[in-house]
Amino acid sequence: MNVIELKGIKKTYHLEKLDVPVLHGIDLTIEQGEFVAIMGHSGSGKSTLLNILGLLDKPSEGSYNLAGIEISKYSDDELAALRNHYLGFVFQQFNLLPKLTILENVALPSIYSSSKDEDHHEDPKKLLNAVGLSERISHRPSEISGGQQQRVAIARALINRPLVIFADEPTGNLDTKSTKEIIKILKDLNASGITIVMVTHEPELTSYATRTIKVQDGLILSDERNESESVDVAKHRSRQFKRKPFSLARIKDYCVQAVGSLMGNKMRSILSILGVMIGVASLIAMLAVGNGAKKSIESEVSQLGSNLLMVMRGTSQKQGISSDVGARMRDYKLKILMICNPILQE
Ligand code: ADP
Ligand code: MG
Repeated sequence: MNVIELKGIKKTYHLEKLDVPVLHGIDLTIEQGEFVAIMGHSGSGKSTLLNILGLLDKPSEGSYNLAGIEISKYSDDELAALRNHYLGFVFQQFNLLPKLTILENVALPSIYSSSKDEDHHEDPKKLLNAVGLSERISHRPSEISGGQQQRVAIARALINRPLVIFADEPTGNLDTKSTKEIIKILKDLNASGITIVMVTHEPELTSYATRTIKVQDGLILSDERNESESVDVAKHRSRQFKRKPFSLARIKDYCVQAVGSLMGNKMRSILSILGVMIGVASLIAMLAVGNGAKKSIESEVSQLGSNLLMVMRGTSQKQGISSDVGARMRDYKLKILMICNPILQE
C-alpha cells in the first residue's frame, strides 16, 4: 500500500521582490513500512520537501496523495487535523515547550486531536517508559540532555499512533552515543510498522534505512533501496480519517491546559491578574470622581440660578409699540430676567 504519492511537486517561495524556486518537479511514492533516508547538500530542498510531505507547507504545483486522500482539496484546518491524525514529527531543535513537564509535552498533541477514542492514543507514561525516560516525567525540558529531549520528542510524535513519522535531521544536534540511541528507537518504530521519512546529513545513518533518496537542486538525483534492510509491510497500520464534532471533553482539555499554563508561570500570572485588577479599579474610580464632580457643579449652578436677579433700565410700551431696554431714560421699569431657574421662568 502506498502511503505517500507525489506527482510533479514544485515549490516556489515568493519573496517581496524575488521568486525562489526550490523544488522543480518531484515524483515520489513511499510504501507503508518503509524507512526512507533523504540526503543532499545544504539548500538542496530537503526540508522544503519534508514540510510538504508533512502537510506543514503546500506545494505550488503538483498533486499529493496521503493514505488515499488527495490533500489539495483540503482546507488549512482540515490539513491540521490530518497532520494530527496521521503524522508525527521530530525536528533537529526538539521543539518542546519549556514551561511544560516532559509528560505534559508528550500528552500535548492528544489534546488537539479530533479523536478522543482511547484506541487512537498511546498512554504518555508508557511512551516515556519505552524511550527510557520513565524516571524523568515531571522534569522540564531544560533539566534533561539533548539526547533525552529528542527521545521526548519521539514519544510526543507517537502519542496519536501515527502512520508516518517525519524526522528532519533528528540527530543533527546530538553526540554519537545519543545519535545511536535515537536511530535505534526510529528503527524499532519502523519494525513495528510505522513508516519513517528522515532527512539526514550523516551518510552512516542511511545503513539503517530501507531506501536512500538523494536530492540535488530541488530534484531527486538518485533513489536506491537497501537490500539488507527489509520492509515489514505485514504490520502496516491503516486508519480512516474522520473529523469529529467539537465535544465537551475537548473544552475540558482546553481548560486544563489553560490552568496548567497559568500555573506554569505563577509570577507572570499573578502580575497579569494584579495589573488587570488595578486597571479596572482605576477606571471605576475615575468614573465615580467624574460623576461626583458633574453632580456638584450641577447643584452649584442651580443654586446660583434661583437667587439671580438682573435689573435692566427702562423699557416702554406706548400705543402697542414696545421699545427695548434703555429706550426711556427717566421712567424706569424693572425688568426681571430670570435665568437659570426653570421654575421661575415658567
Ligand atoms: P535543505 O533542508 O536541503 O538545507 P531547504 O529546503 O531548507 O534546504 O531550503 C532550500 C532553499 O529554499 C534554500 O535556498 C532556502 O534559502 C530556500 N528557502 C527555504 N525556506 C524558504 C522560505 N520560507 N522563504 C524563502 N526561501 C526559502
Ligand atoms: Mg534542512
